[in-house]
Amino acid sequence: MLEIQNLSTHFHINSTKLFQKLTLKAVENVSFSVASNRVVGLVGESGCGKSTLGKTILGLTKSTEGKVLYEDKNLLSLSNREFLPYRKNLQIIFQDPYSSLNPRMTIFEILTEGLLHHKNIPSSEARSLSIAMLEKVGMKSDILERYPHEFSGGQRQRIAIARTLILEPKFIVCDEVSSALDVSNQAQVINLLNDFKSSMGLSLLFISHDLKIVSYISDEIAIMYLGKIVEYGNKSEILNSPHHPYTFALFSSVYDIHNRKKKRYVVKGEIPGVVNKPKGCYFHTRCPIAKDICKEVDPPLKNVSDTHKVYCHFPGEIG
Ligand code: SF4
Repeated sequence: MLEIQNLSTHFHINSTKLFQKLTLKAVENVSFSVASNRVVGLVGESGCGKSTLGKTILGLTKSTEGKVLYEDKNLLSLSNREFLPYRKNLQIIFQDPYSSLNPRMTIFEILTEGLLHHKNIPSSEARSLSIAMLEKVGMKSDILERYPHEFSGGQRQRIAIARTLILEPKFIVCDEVSSALDVSNQAQVINLLNDFKSSMGLSLLFISHDLKIVSYISDEIAIMYLGKIVEYGNKSEILNSPHHPYTFALFSSVYDIHNRKKKRYVVKGEIPGVVNKPKGCYFHTRCPIAKDICKEVDPPLKNVSDTHKVYCHFPGEIG
């Protein structure tokens, strides 16, 4: 339903230290698709560009080049006015439920602000829809006149989810939605999203650094390193047969209680700076199987299968 083609997001910054303008390539030439009623998990270390990619797809951060195709339209070429009819269908839920809800608005106002903007419905209907949606996220209807500060982090995140789902979107970017929550609230929020995915036919881009949660909720997994997708594919193929050394290292670091003999590999060394990225494969400074070609030549896309792609000169050689 959503196809991302060669998407790049660059920022130009003035370095007062170096007295020069620098280009920060946050997202580089990213391509993948999100099918209807599927969850694509996007993983990678902090600062690798995951959130910027999510915001660029929704037009919240300006892209440098590339396309986001939805209903035969390139969303990134639309003006704000042209984008408006699609906005309701394409939503985002942010990481921090403490700052994503306006503290001056009641829960009713929070839930219905977008709804009244996108749909011409009377306030009484908005109230009934709000009550129904609160029940679906496991909250009582008598909270409508209360304020966000009266709720815990888990409750606020459920309110944020209700605010998004009341619009009946088709695609949601979930940006680290569970990382500010404790374990029991994390489980509630993840199960809630999973249920809504099935009942509403939603598609999600699920951004997280928590590999266990991504492994649980995703149908496809994309692995990002320094602004690039290095491996993408069907979940079981990625988990059972990672072909990129970085993917192998990431998932081998998740302790598997059923497989104590599983080979583990820990990525050593510092992640290079996003401004001065290394030549060739960006991972070569930390890759245990890097060869001379990796230091010079960008790795090409290789198809491991129809549903599994990797950017590496020597795919599958680690493990
Ligand atoms: Fe390692 Fe080379 Fe593959 Fe990069 S291209 S991940 S350096 S083997």
